[in-house]
Amino acid sequence: MSWHREIWRGVKQGFSIEQDNPLLLKAQYKAFSTQLPLMYFILLVNSWILSSTHIDSAPHWLTLDYPAILTVVCFIRFIFWLRSRNRDPTDETARQTLKRTSLIAAPIALSFTVWAILLFPYGNAYQQSHVAFYMGITVIGCIFCLMHLRSAALITTAVVNTSFVIFFASTGKPTFIATSLNVAMVSATMLIILHIYYRDFKHLIDAQAQAEALSNENFHLANMDSLTMLPNRRKFFTELKACCTQAANKGSRFVLGILDLDGFKPVNDLYGHSIGDKLLFTAGKRIQQLCDEHTHLARLGGDEFALIITRPGNNEALLAFGNRVCNSLRQPFTIAGNSIHISASIGLATYPDMASNATELFEHADYALYHGKRNNRSKVTLFSASHRNLIQQEASIEQALRKADFEQELEVYFQPIINLETGKTAAFEALARWHSPILGPVSPAQFIPIAERTGIINKQTRILLGKALATAAKWPADIRLSFNLSVHDLSSRSIVERLVSLIKQANFDPQRLDMEITETAIIRDLDQAKWATEKLRKLGCGISLDDFGTGYSSLNQLHALSLTKIKIDRSFVTGIEQNLASLKIVKSLLALSRDMGLDCIIEGVETQAELQVIREIGGIMVQGYFYSSPIPETAIPSWLADRPALLSQ
Ligand code: C2E
Ligand code: CA
Ligand code: CA
Repeated sequence: MSWHREIWRGVKQGFSIEQDNPLLLKAQYKAFSTQLPLMYFILLVNSWILSSTHIDSAPHWLTLDYPAILTVVCFIRFIFWLRSRNRDPTDETARQTLKRTSLIAAPIALSFTVWAILLFPYGNAYQQSHVAFYMGITVIGCIFCLMHLRSAALITTAVVNTSFVIFFASTGKPTFIATSLNVAMVSATMLIILHIYYRDFKHLIDAQAQAEALSNENFHLANMDSLTMLPNRRKFFTELKACCTQAANKGSRFVLGILDLDGFKPVNDLYGHSIGDKLLFTAGKRIQQLCDEHTHLARLGGDEFALIITRPGNNEALLAFGNRVCNSLRQPFTIAGNSIHISASIGLATYPDMASNATELFEHADYALYHGKRNNRSKVTLFSASHRNLIQQEASIEQALRKADFEQELEVYFQPIINLETGKTAAFEALARWHSPILGPVSPAQFIPIAERTGIINKQTRILLGKALATAAKWPADIRLSFNLSVHDLSSRSIVERLVSLIKQANFDPQRLDMEITETAIIRDLDQAKWATEKLRKLGCGISLDDFGTGYSSLNQLHALSLTKIKIDRSFVTGIEQNLASLKIVKSLLALSRDMGLDCIIEGVETQAELQVIREIGGIMVQGYFYSSPIPETAIPSWLADRPALLSQ
């Protein structure tokens, strides 16, 4: 019947250890190991005390030899236990040891019980009572000590107390029958308490295990990027620090790579975030496929990934690996039916040759990445000694910028923009010039990015705009002013509003002013860029898109802005007469601007040959060294006066 089976199953379970619960076994092992010495102490001391009360009445083999043998056995067992004791046992050790303890419990309990029963006939009533007391009390002590190991406690109780009850009840003496009843009662109670205690102990261990599992899971989640399933930024930095320590100890070398996707932001804007997310996931997978077991990939956030390469090989191998990664990301991605093209740039820095700690290494890899991007030369840039010099140079520029008195030190130069149809100067582009008392003249290509990074740019822009407007106010009314705004000048409403009020206060018609902005400003925050350009348009200013053709913007995005001009980057103009690709690009950009109803300025015209081609393909507005490099304010009147002579060239 089923209840039979249930009971039998319960009994079997009680008498055996729980093999399939390793955590419980370990906890039992630990709890029990501190109590085992106590148990043997109680057992042996009580036994020798009983032996001493029988020394004169019982034979020596019973009072001395038998307990001596038991003592030796217990000692051997105890020593064995001590030697195999382990503070942090493996699952298997805990299981084996507890199983052994349960197995040994029966013979030990039986040996002591048999001994006590054998002693019983040799004494008077007092001594016999001592035997009964010894058995009853010792077993209680032992059960207490075996509390955490239910099987051993049950075996001991079963062996000793069953023998006790049967033996003393069968003496026929009322006192002993009563005692056996007492012991039976206590045994039953002890069993119940043991059961409850053990159950609670088990629950406690299970709860601990659950809490540990939960905290492990949290730990895992806290270290994983849920979008790409790669290690996240936090995990990456922990690993990076560990790698530095390890490399420092071993004297080994490793490489940190930072990878940034180019053209990801427009994908996000154009197709939506869910496609952007899928793109990141797939990009992560592609990179991962190229990594071996010595190359660890993580996602730092946004479209930035990091690589820790612990067996980097030489620089050529490293660059080859970087190029493989970039090439794989250049292959089109097919997501939800869209074929999406992006690319990637990588900055690499080696430890310890190029950095002495994790922070520096990260900074240097990051520097290599952005320096590479800025110069548009190669997609993989390895941080080198020349970069280190540049960093030092930039640091001194930053120092000088912070101390600079811009009203004094900044000057505005003007480069004419020529209308090829009229042959007249249509406008001047204002270009910043900084003469630092510490460093001498510093190129804007150098100091503007630093001013942007350090947040100094907004103040600079206001001073430059003030100066440019004041100069332009003196020009003939048909000449426009073109002024460069940085991304940061458009980044917040209050900054834009300050510029607007500056323009309003100036003695210059905003209708004659063009603001040059770059694609970066638009990409960074389309809504903000839209707001800012509309604000400036309302004032009457024109908006020119500078360096057009170098970025990734889609036509749609540009259309969303109220642009009035585009400026074709000089990289397409240099050598245009020999470069068919450049010619095609400039031609199509001219057509595009015409279709969009925008004026088009072609920058960087340096030679007669270039100018010739531009004329042929219908370029109207040009700017470049061929006509003039940027000139100071004082040179403008004579430039304007000499202009007709220049045209005839
Ligand atoms: P940009 O806005 O593209 O300015 C044109 C740059 O090309 C100027 O360099 C100009 O001198 C140079 N350039 C003009 N014609 C030619 C040519 O025929 N050949 C060559 N090789 N170069 C030519 P510049 O003045 O050194 O300025 C560099 C960059 O610094 C500017 O590029 C602009 O991004 C930034 N910048 C300059 N002034 C300002 C400013 O006042 N505000 C902001 N935000 N940026 C400025
Ligand atoms: Ca410009
Ligand atoms: Ca430009």
